[in-house]
Amino acid sequence: AEKYVLTKHFSGEPKKSDFKIVYEELPELSDGEILTEAEYLSVDPYMRAYMIGYKLPTDMIGGQVARIIASRNKNYPVGAYVAGSFGWRTHTICNPNKPPNMGFLPLNMLPDISPHPVSLGLGILGMPGNTAYFGLKEICKPQRGETIVITGAAGAVGSHVGQIGKILGCRVVGFAGSDEKCEYLEKELKFDRAFNYKTVDIKAALRESAPNRVDCYFDNVGGEISSTIMSYMNKNGRVAVCGSISSYNDAVLPKVTILQPAIVFKELKVEGFLVNRWADRWSEGIKANLAWLREGKLQYQEKVYHGFDNMVEALVGILRGENIGKAVVKVK
Ligand code: NDP
Repeated sequence: AEKYVLTKHFSGEPKKSDFKIVYEELPELSDGEILTEAEYLSVDPYMRAYMIGYKLPTDMIGGQVARIIASRNKNYPVGAYVAGSFGWRTHTICNPNKPPNMGFLPLNMLPDISPHPVSLGLGILGMPGNTAYFGLKEICKPQRGETIVITGAAGAVGSHVGQIGKILGCRVVGFAGSDEKCEYLEKELKFDRAFNYKTVDIKAALRESAPNRVDCYFDNVGGEISSTIMSYMNKNGRVAVCGSISSYNDAVLPKVTILQPAIVFKELKVEGFLVNRWADRWSEGIKANLAWLREGKLQYQEKVYHGFDNMVEALVGILRGENIGKAVVKVK
C-alpha cells in the first residue's frame, strides 16, 4: 500500500512538502478481515482544520470509496464497494467490526447506485450528503414556506442543503464565490436566488432576496458574512453551524464580530454539530438521499481530480473554491 504521512503542520495553504508518500507492506488477512483497494479518495475542508491537533508524523485522515479485493468475511464479498475513513492510502486491511476511524465517514457498504458513479459514496450518498440531510432537518427544522440562507452554497454540503430546502417547500437563498457557481445554483438547482459574496453587498442581497427575512441559516463559512446574515434573521430563527472555512487557512483567528445582540433579541437557536452525531442513523440519510436522487429531485456535480499523486492539489483546490459540488480524487 501507498499512503500519505503528514510530516509538517500546515502553515497557510497545505503544500506537497508537508507530506511524505510511504510504501507499506500489508500482512496476510486474518479471519473476519477484508482487503480493499481505493477507487476514490475524498478531500474535505475539515482536513485543513483538523490536522492541527495531531502529533506528527501521522497518517493522513480521510474518507474513501474502495473495492473489496480479498475477503475473509462472508458479509463483505469480493467485488463489493465500501465507503469508510481509511485515510489517504491505496490499500487497506480492515475488520469491518473494528474499522479504522480516520475521519467522519463510518464504514458502510455502498448500496447499488448504478448508473451513478460509486464516488457518490463520498458526496451526496456519503458524509456531505448526511451532513446536509441531518444538519438541515434536525437543527434548522425548516417549515414549508420559510426562508433558508446557505453560505458555501455551491459546495458539496451547501448545494445539497439548498436542494433539500426546495424539496421541503422553502425559499432558498445561497451565497457562493463566483458568478458561474451562482448561475448553476439558480438555473440547475432551482435556488430562488444566489449571490456572489465576493462582489455583492450582503445586506442589500438579503433585503432583495429574503423579503420575509431569514428563518434558517445553514452556516458553512463563519466570519463576517455569518454575522450579517444572523442580524437579518427572524425571531426564533435557527442557525446550523456546520463549518467555518473562511478561517481554516488563517494562523490567527479573525477579530471577533459582535453577534450576541442578534442572538438575544431575535431569540435565535444557534447550534454547532458534527455529522457523526448521527452515525447510528447513517443509512437513513443515505436512503433518503438515494430516493430523492432516483426520483430526479436531487442533482449532483463532481470535480474529479486524477491520480493518487494529486491529493494535495485537490485539497488546495477546495480551499481555493475550484469545485462546484463534491471534489474527489480518482486514484487510478
Ligand atoms: P465545499 O465543497 O463547500 O468546498 C469548500 C468551499 O468553501 C469552496 O469551494 C469555496 O467555495 C468555499 N470557501 C473557501 N474559502 C472560503 C472563504 N474564505 N470564505 C467563504 N467560502 C470559502 O466543502 P464541503 O461542502 O465539504 O464543506 C462545507 C463546509 O461544511 C466546510 O466548512 C466544512 O468544514 C463543513 N463540514 C462540516 C461537517 C460537520 O460535520 N459539521 C461535515 C462536512 C463539512 P466559494 O467559491 O463559494 O468560496
